[in-house]
Amino acid sequence: MSVTQQQVLDSLARIKSPRGVPLTNANVLSPISASDGKVFFSINVDAAEARAWESVRAEAEAAVRGIPSVTTVMVALTAERKPGAAPPPPQPSRGTPGVQPVHAHKPPPQGGAQSPMARQSEIPGVAAVIAVASGKGGVGKSTTALNLALGLRDLGLKVGLLDADIYGPSVPRLTGLHEKPELDGERKMIPLRRFGLAIMSIGFLVEEETAMIWRGPMVMSAVTQMLRDVAWGTLDVLVVDMPPGTGDAQLTLAQNVPLKGAVIVSTPQDLSLIDARRGLAMFKKVNVPVLGIVENMSYFQCPHCGTKSDIFGHGGARHEAEKLQVPFLGEIPLHMAIRATSDAGNPVVDSEPDGPHAAIYRAIAGQVRDQLKGVIAAA
Ligand code: ADP
Repeated sequence: MSVTQQQVLDSLARIKSPRGVPLTNANVLSPISASDGKVFFSINVDAAEARAWESVRAEAEAAVRGIPSVTTVMVALTAERKPGAAPPPPQPSRGTPGVQPVHAHKPPPQGGAQSPMARQSEIPGVAAVIAVASGKGGVGKSTTALNLALGLRDLGLKVGLLDADIYGPSVPRLTGLHEKPELDGERKMIPLRRFGLAIMSIGFLVEEETAMIWRGPMVMSAVTQMLRDVAWGTLDVLVVDMPPGTGDAQLTLAQNVPLKGAVIVSTPQDLSLIDARRGLAMFKKVNVPVLGIVENMSYFQCPHCGTKSDIFGHGGARHEAEKLQVPFLGEIPLHMAIRATSDAGNPVVDSEPDGPHAAIYRAIAGQVRDQLKGVIAAA
């Protein structure tokens, strides 16, 4: 029997808010998503009271987990600061399992401000977290993130992939993985494993339709939980497939995830490059080094005769990278094999390791690895 919203509400009614009101009457609950044993909702509170709510969040999660038909629960605590209100007190260490960091709508640090990395704790066991980002959707960001992760694997590194593209998680499709992660003895989610990668996606936890309606603060909270409450083990690099765009949610993410660098994926079209420029500006704002730009769908390569055609005016991203003085990491052709292998859950670097596309991704991975060498060696 599948869990119902009413069962969830009944279990939450027994939990009290910090002011002693039943949680269901405290006017803080988001709509509850409950299907196939998977439950997701958020508790939205004022930032000034967020600390007092952390234990309530944990209680709520435990209560819902106690419903017999429930297999997965994710309860996010999100906080918005009221205009003019005092800033919330400093947050406890992000390393504490089950404690949710809080996102407040606050402008990012401006020039000269302390690096956001300075106030972030690392993920134990993970040497470098890097983001793969794009200014807009559909440019091949997720395909690049997965094949880059595989390229890094081929270089002998221990690699994880976190699909933080909460608006449209595509890693389940790209990897053919659809199982739900299990919990370990410390109640951390065990990432799924395929192609020698540790893989986690919001798509393993919630239905795609649910993911689509998430708002900025919920995105942050869920992504933080996937970073912190997952037993990643020892990794040299954790590749984060970011949500597309450069809006508030992305900025907050870039600011809060302890990133060692970002790779920007763009197509050669002007419009996409404008978006890529925004992406660059965003990472600059939060002092995350841009490892470089990848031009995806750079040229069309005929699958029959191998002839190249520059249907999108190839070379735009290389030129842009030069102008912006960031590394240009490489050009990936628009090719049937990349699309077909991706969409069948067999990414090209794994399924055609000796082919030309795998070589391109590995060359890009090599440049990324070289830039992270210091960090990986230090760990
Ligand atoms: P995004 O993450 O930017 O939304 P995806 O990685 O999901 O984009 O890719 C969108 C579509 O384009 C997918 O069907 C994917 O297989 C295809 N695709 C991505 N890169 C290439 C490429 N270089 N050649 C052919 N198809 C590609």
